[in-house]
Amino acid sequence: MKRRDLIIIGAGPAGLSAAIEAAQYGLDVVVYDENALPGGQLFKQIHKFFGSKEHRARERGFRIGQQLLEEAGRAGVEVVLGAQVIGLYDGLIVQVVRGDRIERVRANAVVIATGASENMVPFPGWTLPGVIGAGAAQTMANLHGVRPGNDLLMVGCGNVGVVVAYQMLQAGCRVQAMIDASRAIGGYGVHAAKVARTGVPFFLGHTILQAEGDGKVESATIAQVDERWQPVPGTEKTFAVDTICLAVGLTPATQLSRMAGCTMINLPGLGGLVPATAQNGATSVPGLYVAGDAGGIEEASSAMIRGRLAGLAAARRQGFADSQAAESRGQELHESLDRLRGGPFGERIRAAEELMHKALEKEAACQTA
Ligand SMILES: Cc1cc2nc3c(=O)[nH]c(=O)nc-3n(C[C@H](O)[C@H](O)[C@H](O)COP(=O)(O)OP(=O)(O)OC[C@H]3O[C@@H](n4cnc5c(N)ncnc54)[C@H](O)[C@@H]3O)c2cc1C
Repeated sequence: MKRRDLIIIGAGPAGLSAAIEAAQYGLDVVVYDENALPGGQLFKQIHKFFGSKEHRARERGFRIGQQLLEEAGRAGVEVVLGAQVIGLYDGLIVQVVRGDRIERVRANAVVIATGASENMVPFPGWTLPGVIGAGAAQTMANLHGVRPGNDLLMVGCGNVGVVVAYQMLQAGCRVQAMIDASRAIGGYGVHAAKVARTGVPFFLGHTILQAEGDGKVESATIAQVDERWQPVPGTEKTFAVDTICLAVGLTPATQLSRMAGCTMINLPGLGGLVPATAQNGATSVPGLYVAGDAGGIEEASSAMIRGRLAGLAAARRQGFADSQAAESRGQELHESLDRLRGGPFGERIRAAEELMHKALEKEAACQTA
């Protein structure tokens, strides 16, 4: 069986950043990604990032993806595409499908950076063609140049909902309405304002009741919700739409961390069930790290720093990084992550991490008892 210093699963911002960081210390690094293109979500992101210059604000996601790929190439990272990892055994044996072959490769360390999947909400008619995830709509329009439909209803006004709605308008769709059960817009104000300026109505405190149509979506009915999020009779409105985009949250991809036997913890603030990790992404399985959305839903900017922390930790574990230099690099990365999470959007993450550390302390106490 082949052996590598570090195997990274997922070539999104977290995986590529982990690879670049580790390769700089001289590790032999391979990144597997099931897609035909590397970059994860970044290549769909044609909008400019927010935050500070340090965290790549005002740069477009796909350009950041290109830069990461070039950097990975210069660092000598091997990126293998069309390679789906289907198994992780004894923590560090990776089973990967490439074409019609299945290979097993042993690693001294593994970083899981498999991202997240989109949440769905079931309602009558939700299986009709035309009900799709907002991320899927973004992939169709921005990667494949295919407009997902002509008349859209966007369900969810968080960051994904408002960003994708604007991109659908740019792609030539008509967004008939934006709805959210919450009474506040969760997404960045500037993106919501761009959508609102085009005249798209926002229905906050509303939910979708059903999709109607003969073999495909032809209309959608929404209704106001009360304080218990129950539909209020008599408030129904129907829109003639052919596409309903669901932007109702993401769930960390935890299949591989669960298979590897990581201690898992349910933290709604991070998107649900996540592997318990130290701040550098180390899981309860020695040599196995998690970075990016696979360890808790956040943003590409933090996924890149979390990736670098995991790459650095994997290098230190194998004695590649001089401990004093690695210590100060780690400190620098932690400080950068703290600054990124300093704003109001970081509150949810900080609270969830505190819960995670309390749970880990409790577990450590149980083990020594
Ligand atoms: C619509 C939308 C808009 C967004 N806008 C922004 C924004 O403006 N700013 C921002 O900072 N963030 C934004 N985000 C969030 C950001 O895209 C994610 O937080 C970030 O991409 C997470 O990076 P990641 O590397 O963890 O995962 P991903 O980017 O999802 O990459 C995961 C990779 O793993 C691969 N993979 C998964 N499973 C396997 C497997 N078993 N075997 C091999 N490969 C596998 C996938 O193919 C993928 O390439 C947005 C997200 C969405 C959905």
